[in-house]
Amino acid sequence: MSAASELKPLVKSLNSASSEEETLKILNTLKDFAKITEAVLRESKAGLAVGKLRSNASKPVSELAKEIVRKWKHEVEREKAAGGGSKGAAKPPAAKKAVSSSAAATPSTPVTPSGSGGTKFNDTRSAKSDGIKVEYTGDKTRDKCAELIYDALVFDSGAPSELILNRAKDVEKTVLNDHGGTTAAYKAKIRSLFVNLKDKNNPGLRESVISGDLPVSRFCKMSSQDMASEERKRADELIAQQNLFNTLGAGEQEAETDAFQCGRCKQRKCRYRQAQTRSADEPMTTFVTCTVCNNRWKFS
Ligand SMILES: [Zn+2]
Repeated sequence: MSAASELKPLVKSLNSASSEEETLKILNTLKDFAKITEAVLRESKAGLAVGKLRSNASKPVSELAKEIVRKWKHEVEREKAAGGGSKGAAKPPAAKKAVSSSAAATPSTPVTPSGSGGTKFNDTRSAKSDGIKVEYTGDKTRDKCAELIYDALVFDSGAPSELILNRAKDVEKTVLNDHGGTTAAYKAKIRSLFVNLKDKNNPGLRESVISGDLPVSRFCKMSSQDMASEERKRADELIAQQNLFNTLGAGEQEAETDAFQCGRCKQRKCRYRQAQTRSADEPMTTFVTCTVCNNRWKFS
């Protein structure tokens, strides 16, 4: 199914939506639609339908419509930039491919900036690609171990380097303390954490460590078995949190801030909001959305 024909029924129900709630729900679905190009917007008439809602009497509706239009503009601009980019004639087919095959064939893929024309964003970050030099202990073994943990945490993450680097250092320090130095047990533990973190089937573990939902002190005490079951345990929780994230995204957002740097596009144009996602005596969770590439992450 082409992206435009996927959008058409949504546009139709948007035009005939009878309540604010229904309109917001459809708008949110549209907002997360990852295959926006100028042609898709035109063919599906989605641009027109959402554009109209910017002057809707309901403030939540008009704000969300404005946000979506802004986001789409970015994507269309990016599409154009990619089309006229350095690779010249080689680019348009790549952008086309993103729309017709890969993106359409993998609906489970979360918002993937790499699927909308930008080749800059890939899912293989590392300390090296992030330009991070892990040198903070004066001890080569320790620095190397922290770098390993950084690489394992970061490779498919959109979170900022700074946040991930802090977690990696925390992990290294905690393992060091737990094992009384760079002993054989220390190295074995780092290796075990590295292998489990890097596990493609365990994205929840990485995300929990990065976000702080799984405290480093607890993570460092986990066996491989614990880590595997942690993923199963957390799967539902993560879905619930993602839903919360989406719900929060629908409401009024904080103003754009340069307080956060996006781990993907490295720009400092983000919106954020904070919420109490767990018990009242735990710290607030901060949800950040990059307004440039729509990357999202959270931390507490
Ligand atoms: Zn970004």
